[in-house]
Amino acid sequence: MVRYDARADGGVRAADRRAAPSVGSRPLTGRLHSVESFGTLDGPGIRQVLFFQGCHLRCAFCQNRDTWDPRAGRAVTVDELVAEVLRYRVYMDSSGGGVTASGGDPILQAPFVAALFRALRTEGIHTALDTSGAIAVGRPVADLIRATDLVLLDLKHMDSERHRELTGVPNTRVLEFARSLAATGTRAWIRHVVIPGWNADRDHARRLATFLREIAGVVERVELLPYHEHGRHKWEAIGARYRLDGTRPPEDGEMETVRREVAATGIPVFVA
Ligand code: SF4
Repeated sequence: MVRYDARADGGVRAADRRAAPSVGSRPLTGRLHSVESFGTLDGPGIRQVLFFQGCHLRCAFCQNRDTWDPRAGRAVTVDELVAEVLRYRVYMDSSGGGVTASGGDPILQAPFVAALFRALRTEGIHTALDTSGAIAVGRPVADLIRATDLVLLDLKHMDSERHRELTGVPNTRVLEFARSLAATGTRAWIRHVVIPGWNADRDHARRLATFLREIAGVVERVELLPYHEHGRHKWEAIGARYRLDGTRPPEDGEMETVRREVAATGIPVFVA
């Protein structure tokens, strides 16, 4: 049960007073898959994690296979989401938390998420964007980055062809996106799923470390996540073939090899 918080009502009224973001006479809407109200894995503190619908990547290890379809989910307005989020304000404030837009890839709904983040900022709520970064940094994306306090960026593979095999797209735009964060001084946490047979070897870890040194000025931490099959049931539920059949989780020694190379950059490393 959620305890009553006087500030929550005040926040909703503030949201009501704000001019609602709109397209012509229609309010701007986003498509949302689901909300996790007490997330502790996607940014600092206790967070409202908003899973947006739609992703243009096809990662073989995707845990959120059910978020790919951009037409699915429910339509929401900025004011509706702000009101929903502010019900949990006391937990966010007391833990140094905030709101994380995840997915899917929320960057596909950049104008909506930027409007949402601006509205949250007027309420003093910390904003984080969990993204693949596989998109050109045009005006809508640059606008979203400006409204974001922290970017959680996945670096999946440093070899572009292997990245394409793993995700369906080359890594060119991902690396450009990461460099744009460095150029704009945008704080970032880098996340990297370690997958045996793909990126769990020392050579790949060194390539990752070399790139991290290039953007180290804005990277606050690197999170190394061992590959697992937790998302498999979502693939099977929709009748899709799970592409990493037979791939095992990394051994401790493989995780340690990657950790050591990344730690040599001087960036704090966390192993999940
Ligand atoms: S970017 Fe994320 S949501 Fe999209 S396919 Fe990859 S793992 Fe799944």
